[in-house]
Parts: sequence; structure tokens; C-alpha cells
Amino acid sequence: MNEPLIRLHRLTRRFGAVSAVDRVSLDIREKQLFALLGPSGCGKTTLLRIIAGFESPDDGAVFLGGRDLTGVRPSRRPVNMMFQSYALFPHMSVHQNIAYGLEAEGLAKGEIRRRTGEVMEMTQLAALAHRKPRQLSGGQQQRVALARALVKRPRVLLLDEPLGALDKKLRGQMQAELKRIQHQSGITFIVVTHDQEEALSMADRIALLNQGKLVQVGAPRDLYERPNCRFAADFIGAMNFFAGRLDGDGVRIGAGVVLRGMGPEGLEDGARVDLAVRPERVKLFAEPPAEGGGRMNHLKGRISDITYYGQDLILRVQVEDLPGGLCARLSCAAEPAGRLRKGQAVWCGWAAAHARILAQ
Ligand code: ATP
Repeated sequence: MNEPLIRLHRLTRRFGAVSAVDRVSLDIREKQLFALLGPSGCGKTTLLRIIAGFESPDDGAVFLGGRDLTGVRPSRRPVNMMFQSYALFPHMSVHQNIAYGLEAEGLAKGEIRRRTGEVMEMTQLAALAHRKPRQLSGGQQQRVALARALVKRPRVLLLDEPLGALDKKLRGQMQAELKRIQHQSGITFIVVTHDQEEALSMADRIALLNQGKLVQVGAPRDLYERPNCRFAADFIGAMNFFAGRLDGDGVRIGAGVVLRGMGPEGLEDGARVDLAVRPERVKLFAEPPAEGGGRMNHLKGRISDITYYGQDLILRVQVEDLPGGLCARLSCAAEPAGRLRKGQAVWCGWAAAHARILAQ
């Protein structure tokens, strides 16, 4: 594999007693859309600002193409940042806003026209070239801010909550747009978001942060299917947790009940663990399901609640001796969905391969 474009090495930034970024090491490859994901206050923005050079780390270093950027001023870094506020010039047209950065660099007029035109095509702004920012919708303003950052052809574009100001539907459309534009431009994007669905749908890779620390890094599917700890399992998507003690390749959750799963290495039998399974992996049966060679988990329960979400049903199932019960998500198009009633006795089953055992 070739060298990463960006290497963060043990970056640390403290504000008084708070470690906003705590010994974060990360590799980011060229031409990827990389998401920094985590709850509010976990240090995403501080990390982005350190990469841009607006913030200095107390410890550690940022390398770009193998070069240490410590002491390099923001304007000298081959990095551009797009702010959530967009910061467009209100008195300038879309075209002028986009061309401004290249004019400031003193490029030749022909070159400016060519590059501005190219970026306006890519961001579908050509028809709006003469409008002022106040004559644009939120999504269009967002595209102008993006075009203005892209036209400078940075090696890395940093985007802090780029879709944060948009409503849910537009956000969904713009996620796909942003991914397309990233791909087409070939520029490496580092996107800060607190929205796990956004990170899953857009990113090639995700770094999950909590309280300044890197929790897990991987492709969206890795984080969703194989979370490495309870925080990651809980933060991304919905999850059922069953607390218990490790017992071989399973978790003893109560008298005589052992649920099997894919385990962590190096834990002793008897250790406190959680078994985690996604609601969409839980299947419901009217009869006790066939054993499936011991690699299926089964619990008998009673449906206590059914919530309709259009595409899906979310069912809560009460299970004897299991406080909280469990949750199953079922497509409304699936065969049993229409026949399920509140109060009905059911068997819940899921494959051990879809359950993770996580240290507490
Ligand atoms: P959000 O999603 O809410 O923007 P974030 O993950 O981007 O949060 P940061 O803004 O990086 O988090 O903040 C990380 C921590 O550092 C927080 O506890 C924050 O209060 C603190 N912090 C950030 N900047 C400063 C500052 N200039 N002075 C003091 N504390 C700061």
C-alpha cells in the first residue's frame, strides 16, 4: 500500500483541564472521503483546526505527504477549510465569490475563467452564476461555499459540519452530491459530522471519537458490523445489549441462558461483558425455531409494543427475567409483519455470527 496522504501522530490539545484531543494517531489516504464522527464536544472541530493550522497541538504532529507541518502557517498549507457558516461575500455574485480566491492569487484571467467554469459545472451552479448569495437557497449557498473551496485545488479539503444548516431532506440529497463531487474532483475530503447516518452513507472511512480519544477507525461497514466497544456499538445505529458474564463463546445472561456471539480475544471466562445484536438481525417465529447447529440464539417472549415507521416496524418484546426486553426491526414488506399483534407470544432468534461480545 502507498503512504497515507495525511498522518496524525499522537496529537494532543488541552484547554485547561480538558483534553479536547488526546493522543490521536490516524492515517488518511489520498482521494478518500474521511469522516470524523462523534458526539458534541468529542474534539472533532479541534482536530480539524489542528490539521488546518488554526490551532497548535500541545503534543504530536501532522504530516502531509511525509512532511511535518508543525510551524507551517495555515495559508502555506495545501489545505482549505469550508466553514459551516459558508462565509460568502454578500455583495458579490456566485461567479465572483468563486473566482475571488484565484484573483487574489494573481492567476491569469483565462486560467481563472477556465477553473471557475469547471467548478461551477461540477457543483451545478452555472445557471446561477450571476445571482447574489441572498437570492440562493440554503443548499445552493452550500454549493457555492464548496465551489469556492474546490477552485483553489487544495490537496485536502476540510469540511466542518458541511450540511449542518440544511433540513433533513436536503441533507440527504446533498450527502450524495458531496460524495459525487469529492469523487469527481479527486480531492481528499475530511468531513466533521455528529450524524452517524451521514458518516455511514458518505464516507470511505470513519474515525469515531469520544472525549478526545480515537475509539475506532474503519470502513462504514466495519464500524456498523464490528464495533469494538460498547460506545461504538451504541453510538452508531440501534443496538440491543444483554449484560452478563463471558462463558466460552457466549454470554451467560441469567440462570441457564447463554447467548452465543463473536467474542473479543483475551478475556477470561466470568468477565463482565455485553452481547450486542442489531434489531434488524432479530427474527420472529411463531414456533420454537430449529436449532441451527447451536449457532442460533433464541429467546421466548411476548410482543409489548409495535411502532409503525412506514418502511419498517419496530417491535418491543418482553422476555422473562430480562429487564428491558429486546427490540426487533422488521421490514413491513416481510411476510410475518402483517400478522404480528401486541400481546402475541413469539420466539426471537438471531445467528451468533451477527452478535458481538463486548468488554464492559
Ligand atoms: P461540536 O460537535 O459540539 O462542535 P466537537 O466534537 O467539534 O463538538 P470541539 O469543539 O473540538 O468538539 O471541543 C472539544 C472540547 O474542547 C470541548 O470540551 C470544548 O468545550 C473544548 N474547547 C474547544 N475549544 C476550546 C477553547 N478555545 N477554549 C476552551 N475549551 C475549548
